[in-house]
Amino acid sequence: MAWKMDLLENMAKAGPVGDNAARYLVEKKVYIDFKPIRGAGAMYLPWWWPGKGFPHPKVYLDANTYSLETSPSDPYMVSLVIHETVHLQQGVVKALSVQGELEAWQAQYQAHNRFVEEILPDEEKLGGKWDEIAALSLDSRADLERAQELMVNLSPGYQADLLPLYPLPQEIAYHVQHIMEAVLRLGGAP
Ligand SMILES: [Zn+2]
Repeated sequence: MAWKMDLLENMAKAGPVGDNAARYLVEKKVYIDFKPIRGAGAMYLPWWWPGKGFPHPKVYLDANTYSLETSPSDPYMVSLVIHETVHLQQGVVKALSVQGELEAWQAQYQAHNRFVEEILPDEEKLGGKWDEIAALSLDSRADLERAQELMVNLSPGYQADLLPLYPLPQEIAYHVQHIMEAVLRLGGAP
């Protein structure tokens, strides 16, 4: 499909993060399709989605906003596909965490602004709260909490507040460690 080829070429022009995402979509034969999505511009489905025998992973763009009529160089659309590809690359456990989200938002921001800079200098760059998101650390609990606030703020209806801060196994380990430390303190000397 010519449209999809054009989209992939545009992704590849969005800096290393976009180039990497475009190669991944080709290598893994990821489908790109449209369907109505509430509260988000795009979503992904991993290949093993329970109960559905999908042979390939998928990236869906919101059909209320995007279609084959949309220019394949629409910077925000290009950046959305890159965001969802980062989630596919992360795997589901990491993707379903604030850390995974923050990584995807940062990749989207970088790719979007790089693409605009190099290909469509008249288009507006992402800024404001996006700049703050781009500067947060993936390894700080305080920053991940701030990221959660900013994401909900930028995208009402976005359910980042339901996600664990770190990928779940790591998050559980963190809480177990804190409980253990508290228990050990109970038995400690003053
Ligand atoms: Zn995401």
